[in-house]
Amino acid sequence: MSSDQKKIIELRKELREHNYRYYVLDQPVISDYEFDMKLNELVKLETEHPEFYDPNSPSQRVGGEVTKKFNTVEHKNRMYSLDNSYSHEEVLDWQKRVQKLLGREDVEYTCELKYDGASINLSYDKGKLVRAVTRGDGVKGDDVTANVKTIRSLPLVLKEGEQESFEIRGEIILPLEGFLKMNRERIEAGEDPYRNPRNTASGSLKLQDSAEVADRPLDCLLYQVVSDNLSFRTHYDVLKYASQQGFKVPETLQICRTTDEIFEFLTYWDEHRDGLPYETDGVVIKVNSLDYQEELGYTSKSPRWALAYKFKAEQAKTRLNSVSYQVGRTGAITPVANLEPVELAGTVVKRASLHNADQIEKLDLRLGDLVYVEKGGEIIPKITGVDLAARSNGAQPIQYIAECPDCHTPLERKEGDAKHFCPNEFGCPTQITGRIQHYVSRKAMDIEGLGSESVELLYKNHLISNYADLYELTEKDIIPLERMAEKSATNMIQGIRNSTQVPFEKVLFALGIRFVGETVAKKLARHYKNIDQLMEATFEQLTTVDEIGEKIAQSILDFFSLESNRELVRRLRTYGVQLALNEQELSYQSNVLSGKAFVVSGVFEVLSRNELKKSIEDHGGKVTGSISKKTTYVIAGDNMGPSKKVKAESLGIPIITEHDYLKMIENF
Ligand code: AMP
Ligand code: ZN
Repeated sequence: MSSDQKKIIELRKELREHNYRYYVLDQPVISDYEFDMKLNELVKLETEHPEFYDPNSPSQRVGGEVTKKFNTVEHKNRMYSLDNSYSHEEVLDWQKRVQKLLGREDVEYTCELKYDGASINLSYDKGKLVRAVTRGDGVKGDDVTANVKTIRSLPLVLKEGEQESFEIRGEIILPLEGFLKMNRERIEAGEDPYRNPRNTASGSLKLQDSAEVADRPLDCLLYQVVSDNLSFRTHYDVLKYASQQGFKVPETLQICRTTDEIFEFLTYWDEHRDGLPYETDGVVIKVNSLDYQEELGYTSKSPRWALAYKFKAEQAKTRLNSVSYQVGRTGAITPVANLEPVELAGTVVKRASLHNADQIEKLDLRLGDLVYVEKGGEIIPKITGVDLAARSNGAQPIQYIAECPDCHTPLERKEGDAKHFCPNEFGCPTQITGRIQHYVSRKAMDIEGLGSESVELLYKNHLISNYADLYELTEKDIIPLERMAEKSATNMIQGIRNSTQVPFEKVLFALGIRFVGETVAKKLARHYKNIDQLMEATFEQLTTVDEIGEKIAQSILDFFSLESNRELVRRLRTYGVQLALNEQELSYQSNVLSGKAFVVSGVFEVLSRNELKKSIEDHGGKVTGSISKKTTYVIAGDNMGPSKKVKAESLGIPIITEHDYLKMIENF
């Protein structure tokens, strides 16, 4: 090894350690000046020796890489959101649910602050950071690696060198001090200040020039490790380990063994959060045991083993100017309050959701009232009350509309409906475009080059009136439209053409059958394999399908009983849209496990736990988290939880191995 190479390696190691001491531990041992000198020396040597380039060198922290477009990548493991709670009672309810599902009361929890920034998923391979991806929609996010690498408190290389691969998740935040400093500088430079730290942090991740990101005092706080091969048993131990590896895990993390300890944590931080160096909007309570987490699993949106507790939101008072009404794609009407703009928790609020007519009545709203607005978990804030003392005499109650604001059809409200509906399903413009917008949306057909606005434009120009019409469009139709360049027309047509390759389960979701969401569509596609069999299914047959209840079954029947919908399906078929599972999907699927419920526990040899679960579902079986009388088999690997073993035995449920399982599906 040349002496220069040796020096480079040494400097990198030294700078890494200083970085860690400065940015993570906040205990620097050398001056900033000395640090800069060492960094300069490293940069100089690296420039002289491009052959020793290392993407994870401390010199890379200064950025300089320019990203024109951030690539979308799929998360290996989905990034879920969290269920919210706003009171101690809700926390208690959750705790009871957890205990009931686990069948025990001695459950330990951890409490962490809920850091308010932008979530990030970091992939490490052999001890090195290889990729950083934003949460996006939870399934896919944007690759922002170049920008994230500039965050000094995030280790690019781990302390213990070559590790197994894992993902670690955290929140990229902008600490208050840095945020205020940035704003002082902006104001001095005559620029508008940034609104709040959270938006500025997430905006920073999307800057094209990573050198600009490097200038921002961003920080990354970690809260979860995702890996199939962890030897730790608890969330707490995993985070402590991550912290030893150089990650910044806030010391506020705490184990709570009783409800009182949890409440104490909530109260303490509600009162003391103003003293924190960064913003927090609540606490995240998690089940500490990883086995129990696994047993509890996930709903379609969030883990059952975690709960966010939101601190009481900030309130603002402002004037209600008017109420307008929005029509959804199903015809549901939502009233929206138009407010005198007011600052609330760092953003300017102009509108608030009013949900439905009952809500307006309950609040007894009058135009011109001074109202209280709060930000709950929702994106749009809500009105929580009226300042009655400030009401002027003679203020009139709000008259709810009787007609659709869009097509003027008289509104209907059936027994049990929360909202009013416009019944003009096939003539109401918003409903027509809403259905097409749903069809092209990311989670449905994901048609590139065709967004919500284009759908409206095409509809207004009488080019489409349903989603099947999309496939008849030609570039010649589109180019003459306003703001439509030839390039975008080509892209749109190509995107529509490509959508004929989208798998059947997504098509089924895209059709827009009421109550048929992504998960239900997947179940139906697997069960019926093609649309013809689904269309022939009776009410009784539909309700025997796992997770299909009467409401969904009826809605499917209603949908296909309309000749116009059958016609749409016929047309989609002629355009080549996938209305059946393809060969490949069929080849690894069957219904052999139909009606059987499995619980999976332990570590396996051949398949990973997730592969095993997927395989069960692919063959029509059901995977559940905890053992009950309804369980058909328990598949046990190494280290199966002892409590599960006892429970299975006491209920007389067969415990089988992974190999027994593979034999079951062998011929399919
Ligand atoms: P929400 O966006 O309200 O559904 O909340 C879920 C998000 O909270 C996650 O995606 C995380 O980015 C964020 N979060 C912040 N702090 C934590 C924490 N300590 N544990 C888990 N998630 C957290
Ligand atoms: Zn209407």
